[in-house]
Amino acid sequence: MEIASVIVDVPAKQTDRAFDYLIPEQWWGTIQPGMRVIVPFGPRKIQGFVISLKTQSEFKKLREIIEPMDLEPILNKDLLDLGDWLTENTLCFKIFAFQVMLPAALKAKYEKKVKITAGVEAADLSETLQTLFENNPIIDWEDALNNGVIPLLQKEAAKGKLEVLYIVKEKVKKKQRKFVRPLVSLAELKDEVVRFPAKAEKQKLVLSYFINHFEPVELRQLVAELNTTSSTVKALVEKKLLTEYEMEVYRDPFEHRTFKRTKPLPLTNSQQTVIGPILNAIESNRHEVFLLYGVTGSGKTEIYLQSIQEVIERGQEAIVLVPEISLTPQMVNRFKGRFGDLVAVLHSGLSAGEKYDEWRKIQRKEVKVAVGARSAIFAPFENLGIIIIDEEHETSYKQEDMPRYHARDVAVERAKTYNCPVVLGSATPSLESFARAQKKVYHLLSLPNRMNNQTLPSVEIIDMREELRDGNRSMFSRKLFDMLKDRIEKKQQSVLFLNKRGHSSFVMCRDCGYVMNCPNCDISLTYHRVNEQMKCHYCGYESHVPKQCPECSSDYIRYFGTGTQKVEDELGKILPEARVIRMDVDTTGRKGSHERLLTDFQNGKADILLGTQMIAKGLDFPNITLVGVLSADTMLHLPDFRASEKTFQLLTQVSGRAGRHQLPGEVIIQTYTPEHYSVELAGTQDYDLFYQREMMIRKTHHYPPFYYLSLITVSHDQLMTVVTATEKIVNYVRSQVSKDAVVLGPAASPIPRINNRYRYQCLIKYKREPNLTKMLKTILDQHQKDTKSGLLVSIDVNPFILM
Ligand code: ADP
Ligand code: ZN
Ligand code: ZN
Repeated sequence: MEIASVIVDVPAKQTDRAFDYLIPEQWWGTIQPGMRVIVPFGPRKIQGFVISLKTQSEFKKLREIIEPMDLEPILNKDLLDLGDWLTENTLCFKIFAFQVMLPAALKAKYEKKVKITAGVEAADLSETLQTLFENNPIIDWEDALNNGVIPLLQKEAAKGKLEVLYIVKEKVKKKQRKFVRPLVSLAELKDEVVRFPAKAEKQKLVLSYFINHFEPVELRQLVAELNTTSSTVKALVEKKLLTEYEMEVYRDPFEHRTFKRTKPLPLTNSQQTVIGPILNAIESNRHEVFLLYGVTGSGKTEIYLQSIQEVIERGQEAIVLVPEISLTPQMVNRFKGRFGDLVAVLHSGLSAGEKYDEWRKIQRKEVKVAVGARSAIFAPFENLGIIIIDEEHETSYKQEDMPRYHARDVAVERAKTYNCPVVLGSATPSLESFARAQKKVYHLLSLPNRMNNQTLPSVEIIDMREELRDGNRSMFSRKLFDMLKDRIEKKQQSVLFLNKRGHSSFVMCRDCGYVMNCPNCDISLTYHRVNEQMKCHYCGYESHVPKQCPECSSDYIRYFGTGTQKVEDELGKILPEARVIRMDVDTTGRKGSHERLLTDFQNGKADILLGTQMIAKGLDFPNITLVGVLSADTMLHLPDFRASEKTFQLLTQVSGRAGRHQLPGEVIIQTYTPEHYSVELAGTQDYDLFYQREMMIRKTHHYPPFYYLSLITVSHDQLMTVVTATEKIVNYVRSQVSKDAVVLGPAASPIPRINNRYRYQCLIKYKREPNLTKMLKTILDQHQKDTKSGLLVSIDVNPFILM
């Protein structure tokens, strides 16, 4: 008797465990751990993940698995174990832990097909299958099920002769192309071509082509190459000499680009010093976490590349994580340039289909390197030799929905399984990581200087309050204005950076001060000039800008705050000769537009690049000699204990954009709080001093890295219900934790209402609480069982956003 333990796709407390199912005899040997199956659940048929097989169950009267959904496991052993770890450490449902590891195409509605791998002939398959695939290299999964050939298909799939395709019905347009190949043998073709009448010249041309190239070819290409028509080909298909069929092709997002291949650069002395211990760990199969601390331009990426080279030479694989916004073509080029087709790229700019194609290359071991944003940490490699996290301080490595994981923690967990090193790289490491390096938990490697000892750009801080006192009401200080003008005259380029996080443009009545708020959430609506609309970024509420103030009927209601658009408008007034490229969510919404704008800037089509966060990273153009930060302090006032850290990191990062090549760079930082240490120390680019100052503050206020945090957020549409429930939770927490822990709450969340639900929270700060996970689970269990109350309780262990 064979039994499978299955995690079913029902995210609820009661179903958050494995269910045992009998494996019908026909699937013995077929169904394996890591595969998805269809199982009966109550009256329904649902999906599930097989996590293990066994011969006995403590339950009687097991139901039977209906059918498998995959030919091969889609989760390997390491990922199945990682699922348990994620569940335990982020307190999520098991089903979420597995789903997060898979590309979206595997979660959506799709048609499933089985296809002969390119280059394989139907004749190469076992006899029963030959008939099925004779006329079509692709068959429906349903047909395969009905013909009872799944176990046979599985054998061929294991040999690489077949594969499963997922053609997503709704979201992803399948990329099918027409192919043509001979239907008869080469000898027969040769016979036919002489038998053809002389006037059938066009058809003879096509036949001769196949005599010379006896293999499938894309119809489009054939027609173009022979300067023939598709009806000529059709005629030959009708004569049963050729056959036409559709085939899915990889949707390669970099299809039409060639990558200039690069060779490893001879390392500088300091690079050699830092790469030594990394190579050593790789060679001796040792798990170790390295913190590669080096200013921008110090040669970290070259270290990544050469470490990966070693890993590939040893037959192992590498994962490289970069933040979504710095996953620019420039960054991708560096990896593709060095390792060519051995690189798969996973990022959110790809369609679900493209992402699935890239994922499949990893799964089929066609590539050795996965470069991607956060979720690439789950790349289904089975012989990892290194994991690299660039810009390790970036908050986007933390996922805010279930499972609320941090990619850094997952990386360390996976690397332990494979006994391989993790390299965390940053010019401004997170306080957590730097503190760990200080305590020798991580191995600190420093690259203190830029390549060729280029100097860092000189940074000047401008006090905008003084500008105002001197009568300058513009958003440009006199100094910045002069320098912009100077660069335009010298035909050099400038970057203007608007720190927009927490500083959206809102609409305010200048007479009475009324601000348009979202009726569902307690935050102001953001102004979008396209369609003159106001939007809530939390619930999606939209409204038009009123002509009159709803409070006092004044006509003087205007948008406020410095959006990129407003800056662009003002630039147009004060520097009409400047050619400006604006990059923000509005101008980069369409696929490829990000890249196009950057290419334009690189090709000198503009003098000034104006933008938000997304221009802070990865820009490396020789002609940029000026970086201006319009308002450095907008992020300082967010209700977030990391506000200073983020401000420092961002300012340092932006400054690094200037003068990366021959021309020296200058940086102007405009601020209303020049005395704040995060602004001041970003000015001198003094990370070490910043670290010391910030650590003192974290210690005083019991924040990480001195304390761990867990945040419990409770929401309900009745305020009283939320308050009472949160109070109960707070009391329970207090009764359970040690006296070293600090329990804050109940308190209204910084955003006290979202989508008409009131939000309260309890924040726990602690050092060592062995029973904490158990306690948090109990809290979740109780509320997840009681679904009628309408109360939602969510728990974020090590939260990054305290909103
Ligand atoms: P980081 O990743 O720290 O910003 P990079 O690896 O991008 O630094 O290096 C900065 C610049 O120096 C790049 O243009 C890179 O090609 C160049 N570079 C890096 N290492 C070397 C080396 N050993 N010899 C010559 N140039 C190098
Ligand atoms: Zn008003
Ligand atoms: Zn809202």
